[in-house]
Amino acid sequence: MSTEPGVEKVLVTGASGYIATHIVKQLQEAGYKVRGTVRSLTNPKKVGPLKELCQNPAHELELVEADLTNDECWKDAVQGCSHVIHTASPFPDKSPKDESVIIKPAVEGTTRVLQACVDVGGVKRVVLTSSILAISDLTETNEEPITEESWRNMNSPMEDAYGKSKALAEKAAWDFVEKLPAESKFEFTVINPAMVLGPVICGVPGTSVEVIRRILERDPPAIPKLNFSVCDVRDVAKAHVIAMTHPEAPGHRHIVAPHSLWFREMVDILKEEFTNKGYKPPSLMAPPVLLKVVSWFDSSVKYILPLQGHKATFSNHRFTEVLGVKPYDAKDSLIDMAYTCIDKGFIVKKKQYFNPKDQQTAEGTSASSSSS
Ligand code: NDP
Repeated sequence: MSTEPGVEKVLVTGASGYIATHIVKQLQEAGYKVRGTVRSLTNPKKVGPLKELCQNPAHELELVEADLTNDECWKDAVQGCSHVIHTASPFPDKSPKDESVIIKPAVEGTTRVLQACVDVGGVKRVVLTSSILAISDLTETNEEPITEESWRNMNSPMEDAYGKSKALAEKAAWDFVEKLPAESKFEFTVINPAMVLGPVICGVPGTSVEVIRRILERDPPAIPKLNFSVCDVRDVAKAHVIAMTHPEAPGHRHIVAPHSLWFREMVDILKEEFTNKGYKPPSLMAPPVLLKVVSWFDSSVKYILPLQGHKATFSNHRFTEVLGVKPYDAKDSLIDMAYTCIDKGFIVKKKQYFNPKDQQTAEGTSASSSSS
């Protein structure tokens, strides 16, 4: 194991989240000292899996409590860390009535973490997890790939508090860093992932699981004409870890959106893999007018109306060429995610369900025991 020189300890905020658990795992596997923040140390579902991410780590994972809405905890969390990866941010599956419930902790929490870096001193670089939603509201089909130069239209027809929270938090962070006096400056870089797929190794099902759960549990029964820019959680984590020390990362955003899938394609991939395991994903396409009617009763459907039929494409130059990540195949990401979600009980386990990997392992075990 060899870590980059100059990295003493890495703070990962929101360590028990879907993306952060992969970041912590990769950092530990690379031999880094890691401190993670969680909102509560007494939640075994969230904290338990964190202790098992890496077998025989060179350094035990250290965990501390910290909340984005609280000033008190952040200085202690940052103390002694040379690098900070800030992933924590509210990521609800529905837009709340009062958007400040999401926006306030996202924006003020990010500023709190950065202010703690200034107050404590010794932090060399901060990596912020933003989103492609800070770059585009995804309501247009673009001819040229969207680049890191773009910012979300804040007068978007999307009533999407989460997307706004990501744009406002990232903007606040760039403003904060830009205004720092020379003696307090640290390097700053941003990762902007698309919709993240891939294996779930955290202990609770987050918002990312929702789309796959809905397809496999046939909710809704018809397929809307929606396109998703997607990426794999292992690649997103890798981008964070590389950006933490890469000499060309500071001062830049990095879009991570290597693939796009229509909802129909996602359904077909899952259908092919899971039909013989008891799952019946929907087959019918939902006409736009049907969605409009449903949206009168279901606010989560209202939210997707402006996205219908549009396909946004993004430049991945910085992700693949500068950071040098070779992305996973989207089909593998989707299938790996579904298996881990079913195995963990986040999606109902059907009677006919089996995981081919378990069968391979069992066959391997019986082959080796019969040969011994
Ligand atoms: P999760 O919901 O799994 O993780 C979010 C993390 O943020 C959790 O650890 C959560 O802590 C923490 N958090 C939320 N609110 C607070 C708060 N008030 N104080 C402290 N911690 C808080 O989501 P993801 O892992 O998917 O998301 C991680 C980051 O990636 C977020 O910034 C998200 O916006 C961004 N992102 C995610 C994408 C995706 O498709 N998943 C796409 C693009 C960006 P707790 O466990 O205590 O709830």
